[in-house]
Amino acid sequence: MKWISPYFENGTWLRGSFHTHTDVSDGSFSLEGVVNQYIHSCRYKAAPWMRYRFLAITDHTTSGKKEMFRPIVNPDPNSESEYILIEGREDSYGHHILGIGCRMTFQEDIIGKNEKDYTLEDYQRVIDEILKDDGIAILAHPHWRYADYFSAEMTVNLERYTAIEIINGDRFSGPGNLATDVWDAALTAGKRVWGTGNDDFHSVRDMHNAWNMVLVKEETKEGVLEALRHGSLYASNGASFEQLYSDGEWIVAECHHDSIFDLPEKTFRFIGQGGQLRQLQTGRGKTAAYKYQGDEKYIRVEMCLSCGMAAFSQPFFPEK
Ligand SMILES: [Zn+2]
Ligand SMILES: [Zn+2]
Repeated sequence: MKWISPYFENGTWLRGSFHTHTDVSDGSFSLEGVVNQYIHSCRYKAAPWMRYRFLAITDHTTSGKKEMFRPIVNPDPNSESEYILIEGREDSYGHHILGIGCRMTFQEDIIGKNEKDYTLEDYQRVIDEILKDDGIAILAHPHWRYADYFSAEMTVNLERYTAIEIINGDRFSGPGNLATDVWDAALTAGKRVWGTGNDDFHSVRDMHNAWNMVLVKEETKEGVLEALRHGSLYASNGASFEQLYSDGEWIVAECHHDSIFDLPEKTFRFIGQGGQLRQLQTGRGKTAAYKYQGDEKYIRVEMCLSCGMAAFSQPFFPEK
């Protein structure tokens, strides 16, 4: 038996967010201002691996502004190699669904219903329109406003979406911003969908609450999108993995080698179907490994630091 790892074997880890607003919708900053906040104002001289390297711009489709049709051009061509901008949108007529790597907007309201009247088929149509535009669909903030904004039933029954936003950083205040429960419901039902963490940036209050570390084969927009499709990324609100891989019957998770991670205790939680905790390791050890037991549908790793931050791997699936 072998685990199927979603992670590329070799590559570069890039930090970034798939959910960013500008003043084209309800963000406080222009595109240039957003880039200034994330890229130019955050140099991370002591820890260059923490620099933001990509941002997907996902303004609400409901803003009605024509500017939404503008193509995204890198506002600072001299630093082209330093960061990657990805076009996208947040479909917002019904419950919000992110489209990544597709044209910025979708002005017309194709469903034409009040949000409360949307059916599962309507949401499926929104996802399929994103796919038609060559985009990648992510179900946004499943517990925003109320517990079942995107319920477990919806994550199980919707199809052809790629990921769920398991951490949303907008006014980060706790359980309403975390959604690993509906992710586990989808995975338990046999779906292969990934977890992402994003600031949902509107203003500086949202910054650095949640992000992704994406392991890319090439440091380009296409490289980031390929990794998102493949699941070669993890979500974080402050903890970092050095590597995640499978070695035959074992899944291995390693905390980042940066010495700053020597300080906190690390709890590795290996989680399987039903969100069940299958194995726990706590202490200063930076590596944890999980051996196949025979009945797993999937295993994912959460690494929690004693200072309260965590990182969430993608699921590993047993080879059939
Ligand atoms: Zn939203
Ligand atoms: Zn948003």
